[in-house]
Amino acid sequence: MKRYSVFAIAREAMRQHAGWPRAWASPTPKAKYDVVIVGAGGHGLATAYYLGKNFGITNVAVIEKGWLGGGNTGRNTTIIRSNYLQDPSAAIYEKSRSLYETMSQDLNYNVMFSPRGVIMLAQTHHEVRGYQRTAHANALQGVKTEFISPARVKQLVPIMNIDGPRYPVLGGLWQARGGTARHDAVAWGYARACSDMGMDIIQQCEVTNVLTDGGKVTGVETSKGKILCDKLGGVVAGHSSALAEMAGFQLPMESVALQALVSEPIKPCMDVVVMANTVHGYMSQSDKGEMVIGGGTDGYNNYTQRGSFHHIEETVRALIETFPMISRLKMLRQWGGIVDVTGDRSPILTKTPVEGMFMNCGWGTGGFKAIPGSGWAMAELMANGHSPLTEEFSMNRFRAGKFIDESVAAGVAH
Ligand SMILES: Cc1cc2nc3c(=O)[nH]c(=O)nc-3n(C[C@H](O)[C@H](O)[C@H](O)COP(=O)(O)OP(=O)(O)OC[C@H]3O[C@@H](n4cnc5c(N)ncnc54)[C@H](O)[C@@H]3O)c2cc1C
Repeated sequence: MKRYSVFAIAREAMRQHAGWPRAWASPTPKAKYDVVIVGAGGHGLATAYYLGKNFGITNVAVIEKGWLGGGNTGRNTTIIRSNYLQDPSAAIYEKSRSLYETMSQDLNYNVMFSPRGVIMLAQTHHEVRGYQRTAHANALQGVKTEFISPARVKQLVPIMNIDGPRYPVLGGLWQARGGTARHDAVAWGYARACSDMGMDIIQQCEVTNVLTDGGKVTGVETSKGKILCDKLGGVVAGHSSALAEMAGFQLPMESVALQALVSEPIKPCMDVVVMANTVHGYMSQSDKGEMVIGGGTDGYNNYTQRGSFHHIEETVRALIETFPMISRLKMLRQWGGIVDVTGDRSPILTKTPVEGMFMNCGWGTGGFKAIPGSGWAMAELMANGHSPLTEEFSMNRFRAGKFIDESVAAGVAH
C-alpha cells in the first residue's frame, strides 16, 4: 500500500496523479476462507481489520450485497460520544471514542475526526436529574463529561434560544471530546487497510443462505456462488434478523427507518453538536456549511431506506423553538437508513446457537460512534471465543432478563 503523506501528494501533483494505486482490490471470491464477515459497513470492516491487526487472521472475506459503506455507515449524521449510563456501554463506547482519536494515524487515512464537543440539552427538570446522574456515573467510569449551566450552553452555542416558552434550556450534559468524523472515510480507511493485509472485500455479492453441518457453520450461499468458511460474522445492521433467519434462529430486534436531512450551506455558525432529546431533534454544522439535522425513527417496521415525510416536519418544527434561525433555511436533501433496534437500546455482540457463527448488531440509531470499539471487541470474540467488552452484550441477556437499559442515553440519540 502506498502511504498517504504530504510528500506523496506533492510527488503525485508533479506527475498528474498517475501513480496512485487502487485503494482496495475487487477480487473474485476464493472457495474457502478462515473467516467470512457479512456486511461491509463500518462494523464489518472494523471487525475484519482488528482480526488482522490484533490476531494475525488475514484469510478473511468481507461480503457486501451493495457497495462498501452504502448502508447506515454512509447515511448517518456521524455523532461520536461515549456518555452512556451503564458500565458495559461506557466501556465499549469510550474504547471506541478513544480509538477515533488516533484512527487517521492508525489507518493512514484522514477520517476527519473532529472532537468539537457534544451537548445533550436538558429541557425538562426530569432531564436535568437524568443527565446529572449520567455525569456522576461517567465520572466513576472514567468518561469525561460534565453537567453545564444554561449560561455555559449559551456561551458554547450563541445562536441558541435558551429561554423558549415551552422548552427552556435548563442545562446540558457536555462531552468536550465528543464530536464527528467523516463517515465514508471511516469505511474507506478500514477497507484500504484490510485489502492491504490481503483480505478480500467482495462487493455486489448478496448472502442468500447460511450453510451448516451438524449445528456448525460451514459457509454461505451467495449471488456469486458458495463460499466456505470456518467462522462467520454477521454484521448487517437492519438486516440482522433476516440473516439470523437464514441460519435458523431469531434475534430480539426490530428494523425501522431512521432519517436525516441537511440544509443549504451557510456560513459557520455552530461549532459543537447539539442534541435535544425532549423535542426529539439534533443538529450540527458540516464542514461544507450545511446544517445536519436528525430526529427519531419511523413508528413502524420497514426496509425502505427512505423515511416518511411527516418526520421531517416534526423534527424541524421541534427544533425551531431552540434554533429560531433555522426557520429561514431551505432544506437541501433527505435520506434514510434501516436501523436495528433492541428492547433495551443496547447492541448485541454474541455467539449464536450455530457453532462458529457470531452476530454484531443492534446498534440501532447510534452505532457510528461505536465502529472501532465494536470491531475491536467483535474481533476478540471471534478469535478467542470471549471478550471482556462483549460479555454483557450476549443475545441471551433478553432471556435472562439482564438488560442494559440505555433508553435514556439513546432516546433520540445518535
Ligand atoms: C439517518 C441516520 C442517522 C444516524 N446518525 C448516527 C449518529 O449521528 N451517530 C451514530 O453513532 N450513529 C448514527 N446512526 C447509526 C449508525 O449509522 C449505524 O449504527 C451504523 O452505521 C451501523 O453500521 P453497520 O456497519 O453495523 O451497518 P451498515 O453500515 O448498515 O452495514 C451493513 C451492511 O450489510 C450489508 N448487507 C445486509 N444484508 C446483506 C446480505 N444478505 N449480504 C451481504 N451484505 C448484506 C448492507 O448492504 C450494508 O452495507 C445513524 C443512522 C441513520 C440511518
